[in-house]
Parts: sequence; structure tokens; C-alpha cells
Amino acid sequence: MKRTWIMALMMGLLCLQGCKQKASQSESVATEQSDNEIEQLIYHYPLGSTEVVLLSDGQNTGDPSVLIGASEEIIKEFVPTGKAGSAFNIFLLKLNGKNILVDSGMGFHLVENLAKEGISHEQVDMVLLTHMHGDHIGGLMKDGQRVFPNAELYISKKEVAYWTDKKIQASLPEGQQRGFAGAQAVVEAYKDKLHLFEPQQAEKMEELIPGVKSIASYGHTPGHTCYLVENGGSKLFIWGDLINFPTVQVPHPEIPTRHDIDPVKAAESRAQVLNWLESQGLTVAGMHVPYPGMGNLTRTQRGLELQLLK
Ligand SMILES: [Zn+2]
Repeated sequence: MKRTWIMALMMGLLCLQGCKQKASQSESVATEQSDNEIEQLIYHYPLGSTEVVLLSDGQNTGDPSVLIGASEEIIKEFVPTGKAGSAFNIFLLKLNGKNILVDSGMGFHLVENLAKEGISHEQVDMVLLTHMHGDHIGGLMKDGQRVFPNAELYISKKEVAYWTDKKIQASLPEGQQRGFAGAQAVVEAYKDKLHLFEPQQAEKMEELIPGVKSIASYGHTPGHTCYLVENGGSKLFIWGDLINFPTVQVPHPEIPTRHDIDPVKAAESRAQVLNWLESQGLTVAGMHVPYPGMGNLTRTQRGLELQLLK
């Protein structure tokens, strides 16, 4: 009951274009969530001498109706049951003695999952955002206050410029304007902790913070950013929402979803980054990749596919 109420609040505060359907899906999943599934919310991935931890806000079901222009053949081939696995994921990086979050999910389980890892909300040192959609910034605020009082917040310049642009906000239907209000509340609450940066091209990446590089991947949102985490020669690429619907968009990066603000640019970024990832053979993690939220890209007769880690 409580979760349903939080969900309704989140929708009111933070939802934007296309978010409604995702939110209502997660509502039904969240209320039906069993204790068993809650156990599936944390996953430890070893990275060099440290680890990256999946802290999930819950599993979800992807509905192919969010895909724009996917043919019936493609849907039949890649989503034969009509539903695909999805999730709301947050990743905790333990790097150089710091606790660093990548995104904050909806805010359902983040603080309790951190506590299970022995980390209080005051011990989160940094949050790196991939973008400012409500299902990625929802865990940053509670009752109008910031949840992580000591966290430095990293967001791409372009992303903040978009969500704080009152002219763009005023030009959109009311339902979409709420997403702007949510993003602006975060920028205001963390204003003394804000680090704005310019993400880079994959070939020219430099470190944003020790052990983490940022990669420009615009289109899903105007400043969408992916992150490459490195420790002791091991790497993990966090693609955020570059891919929303992995079962279809990994083999077919040209297909956008209704969640992409600029569908054409999003498709370009997806193709470009996926090509590069395949050439590098990197393990990937995504915010809407089902448990454990990570996998390896393999090329099969059907094209590129994501094999989830066991
Ligand atoms: Zn998302």
C-alpha cells in the first residue's frame, strides 16, 4: 500500500513524456513484489580490487508498445511472449574509499539497499547521473529535502541546461512539465554540491573522477551520459537509458522508444556506442536491464544480443 502511494506521488512530481506507462507497469509489479523478489535486488560484480553493486528498485515488465516503428516480424522474433524483462537499476561503485552511486532510481529501495551494504545516506560521497528522467533522480529527494546530504552531484551541462530551461518547459503540455519541476527541485536542493561537465566521445575519454570516464550519448535526453568504470584493469560500461528495451534495441539500435526525447539522435548514439562496445568486448550494465542488470554483448545469427550475467 505504502509503495503504491509513493508511486503515485512520484508520478505526480516527476513523470514526463512516456513515463506514465512505465510507471503504471512498475506500480503493478511493485505491489505484487514478493519477499523472494526483494532478495533479487542486490548483486555484487567484482571489478579489479573492488566491486560494483547493483541496488535495484525492482523488476519490471517491458511492453513493446513503447517501441517506435518496430515491425511485427521484429516483435514476433525478439518478444515472442509480448513482454520482456525490465528493471529500475542503480549501481554503487566502491572506488578509492568512496561510495559513488550512478543514478538513484525511483527511490523505492535505495536507502534500505544501501543499509544492507552497511552504507548510510550520509556516507554516499558522490552521485553520477546518466540523465534527469524521474526514474533516475527519484531517489535523490524525499519530502522536498535531499536524501544524500554529503553527496557531490555530477550531471552533464547539457542535461541541466535542458531541464532548467523555462521556455522549453512552458512550451510543453502540462503532463510533461512535471518532469521539469522534479529536475529543477534536484538542481536547487543540491546546488552547493553540483558539478557540471561535458561528457566525451568514446575514443577521447578522460577521467571525470578517479576510475570513471564519461561518454556523450545524447538523444534519449539532450545530455544523456554513459559511464565507463575501471579498476585494476577491469572495466564495466554503464549505459544508463541509451538502451531502454534491450531485447529489441541491442539487435536493432535504429528502433527508438517513446521515452526518447530526440528519437533520431538517440538511435544514432545507440548504434555508435554499441559498435564501440562490441569492438572493446566490454561488460555492460543498464538501468532497465533485468536482474542482475549486467551482461555481455555477443553476436549471433540474429545480430547483437545481450547475454545477462548469471
Ligand atoms: Zn529510465
